[in-house]
Amino acid sequence: MSSTTHMALVLGDQLDLENPALQALRVFETPPSSAGLVIMLESLGEAQVVWNHKARIALFLSAMRHFHLTLQQAGYAVLYQTLAQSTHHGLAHDLSQYIQAHKISHLHLTCPGDYRILLEVQAICKQLAVTLIVYEDSHFLCAQPDFTRWAAKKNTLRMEFFYREMRKRYRVLLDEKGQPEGGQWNYDAENRQGFPKAGPGLIPEPQWFSPDMITQKVFDEVNARFANHPGDLTAFRWPVTRNQALEALAIFIKHRLPQFGLYQDAMWTDIPFAWHALLSSSLNLHLLHPLEVIQQVEQAWKKGDVSLASAEGFIRQILGWREFIRGVYWLDMPKMAKANYYNHQRALPVWFWTAKTKMVCMQQTIGQTLRYGYAHHIQRLMVTGNFALLAELLPQQVASWYLAVYVDAVEWVELPNVAGMALFANGGRFTSKPYIASGAYIKRMSNYCQGCSYNPTQRSGKTACPITVLYWYFLHRHELAMAANPRTALMAKNLSRIPADERFSIMETAQGLLENLDHL
Ligand code: FAD
Ligand code: SF4
Repeated sequence: MSSTTHMALVLGDQLDLENPALQALRVFETPPSSAGLVIMLESLGEAQVVWNHKARIALFLSAMRHFHLTLQQAGYAVLYQTLAQSTHHGLAHDLSQYIQAHKISHLHLTCPGDYRILLEVQAICKQLAVTLIVYEDSHFLCAQPDFTRWAAKKNTLRMEFFYREMRKRYRVLLDEKGQPEGGQWNYDAENRQGFPKAGPGLIPEPQWFSPDMITQKVFDEVNARFANHPGDLTAFRWPVTRNQALEALAIFIKHRLPQFGLYQDAMWTDIPFAWHALLSSSLNLHLLHPLEVIQQVEQAWKKGDVSLASAEGFIRQILGWREFIRGVYWLDMPKMAKANYYNHQRALPVWFWTAKTKMVCMQQTIGQTLRYGYAHHIQRLMVTGNFALLAELLPQQVASWYLAVYVDAVEWVELPNVAGMALFANGGRFTSKPYIASGAYIKRMSNYCQGCSYNPTQRSGKTACPITVLYWYFLHRHELAMAANPRTALMAKNLSRIPADERFSIMETAQGLLENLDHL
């Protein structure tokens, strides 16, 4: 009879052989040379926590099934629960059945990417008197205790200062004196161009992967079990293994990184990916380690293959934003999930699930989201996010939508971006102002407005751009606060120049739009 009592739980976004829970198993297991008992659970409950895009479910399942094979090849004994074996009671319930069946005394777990999962596993272990050992996630470059210590010393949390410390700590893009290469920490100002008027030109394709047999089988199951879920799988070409992710990284650095910096914020009709990396899902599933990505990008700059602005702009996203966002999530949970600074209560318009709206910017961003499970940062922040804030949508509904529709969505990264960056729902905990913009910004950064029946410069009336109208209405409603903040004082000043009768028309138009959000 097996004497195994130690078990490592590997979650769907922890697909890495260096996972500390797996490593620990090797130490605790008897006999010591044995690879031990690992459990991976496909869960019907997890697939339905939010109304998940089919591609998000398929990506997790396919990557998990491929990693199961990797674990077996590495000599681990794996208990693998398929979707067909899963109950509707959720992951923790399913886990408890296996713990009891295998008389587990110790459960090893690397800190999950979702606060809820941690609580659920803790509760199950307590109930079953199982010792739970939770490990810091070695996938991240800033351990949570380090982030908490850093944050405790600050009056305000700003990514830029955190990023500089991370650059020094990992000696990234530093000269021999420890100063930033090129003399500047940040080349953001060079990273904000729109595409030329004639359009983006030819952009090299990202590296895509044809679905193999395992992925095809996942498609069949997802289509059968989650037929009414949003999105479809016809365009699914995401990396599902570490080797594929490494290939996608190499191709990105070679062909797309050189222009990434320059056009990071640009948008164009029917150009869903522009020069972006499309590496977030591979990073978040832990198929790639952030340090290897950063080092390869730095190497490309050293060889002269990419400019410093492009390399720095990209590294800032991973070493700066990604690590910072994760630190803030664990620092501020669970209150971040409930935050609603402006007390916004409106329901998500139905077209967030169909893209059937006359607003071309929203149609494009949501349309590609439903097709690919992907939109780039500025589309998420300044198109859908900006609209959600201006339209006074309930932050929790907005967060559920973002968690459901993007293939790279895991709560640790999705929630701070939605509640903190896009909606200012946490009252500016780590941003200096609400990120709001009128249609003029979208016109400047894209060609969307050219094909739209609304007019981005019009502030009131039937054909006025809803984003422009709601922008001015937001300023009107929060005029005092915007005037008092040096970062938004100019916006308030511009508002004060609008004559009273026009302000009245803006208010009237805005209220009409807000009552009619489903029909824009
Ligand atoms: P690129 O633009 O090429 O950037 C490179 C990498 O930098 C990304 O792969 C990502 O790992 C990292 N990165 C860039 N910005 C951020 C950021 N703000 N936070 C964390 N990492 C960042 N990212 C997710 O991974 N999952 C999410 O669920 C998610 N939800 C978001 C919701 C909103 C409202 C906003 C504004 C942003 C969200 N982001 C999320 C961040 C960012 O939009 C995506 O990481 C990026 O669009 C992924 O595409 P890419 O790999 O082509 O990224
Ligand atoms: Fe979007 Fe307004 Fe431009 Fe239409 S006019 S695409 S709604 S910003």
